Amino acid sequence: MQKLALDAGFSCPNRDGRLSAGGCTFCNNEAFNTSYCDRRKSITEQLEDGKHFFNRKKPGMKYLAYFQAYSNTYAPLPRLKALYEEALSVDNVVGIVIGTRPDCVNDEILNYLEELSHRTFVLVEYGVESCNDETLRRINRGHDFACSRKAIEGTHRRGIYTCAHIILGLPGESRGEMLRQAELVSSLPIDVLKLHQLQIIQGTAMAREYEQQPFHTFTLEEYVDLLVDYLPRLRPDIALERFVSESPSRLLIAPRWGVKPQEVTRMVMEKLHQIQID
Ligand code: SF4
Repeated sequence: MQKLALDAGFSCPNRDGRLSAGGCTFCNNEAFNTSYCDRRKSITEQLEDGKHFFNRKKPGMKYLAYFQAYSNTYAPLPRLKALYEEALSVDNVVGIVIGTRPDCVNDEILNYLEELSHRTFVLVEYGVESCNDETLRRINRGHDFACSRKAIEGTHRRGIYTCAHIILGLPGESRGEMLRQAELVSSLPIDVLKLHQLQIIQGTAMAREYEQQPFHTFTLEEYVDLLVDYLPRLRPDIALERFVSESPSRLLIAPRWGVKPQEVTRMVMEKLHQIQID
């Protein structure tokens, strides 16, 4: 199964002026848009291009349409329905994954997603980023942790698969604070967790902050050590979709580890295994 990232032409309230015009200080959507992901193309065209790309590698694959760029529930319900249904009508697309902000869902949208989840795979991925309200203010997130909890609980209550996205290493958070948050993350009724290290990306407010007053970002060894302490604190039934991210080199300011995500995974697995043996 392969996720195909989509840019469905959404915006987000933290960029269009409803909450702010600046966005979260770490955000540059260019950093995670793939080559076949282009908002000028229809959903069907983007999915067909993505299928063509992956089908060469593994013929006969099935796909999940991944509404990834910006906030993918930030539109009136009829528009959301049209976009999601278009994706699900494409051959070999067997479910959808919807990335969004916790303040961009409401009962009407969640009730529709609940209905949809009775006929296909639906996973809602919420940007939580931190459980610490002070950090959320500092990164101009525009919502607090209580908002994330409410959205996640409302989604889970409807039987919809739920994922949280967390960034480790946000400015102002010590190692102890990040470890404390592992327990809070575990207290959320999530099925899936995505973690990644803070990356300073060109063109972001955080890049300007970093330039003016550089702050510490993880070395590879520090990040691996943190994960080795962080992961065992998580509820064991949470599926970890990833714990490292790799932004395009042309955009990445720091940290520049020069290793592939698989190598980080190998290092973490090796250390965890070593602890078990000891
Ligand atoms: S990270 Fe998401 S919520 Fe924040 S500014 Fe970017 S698109 Fe908007």
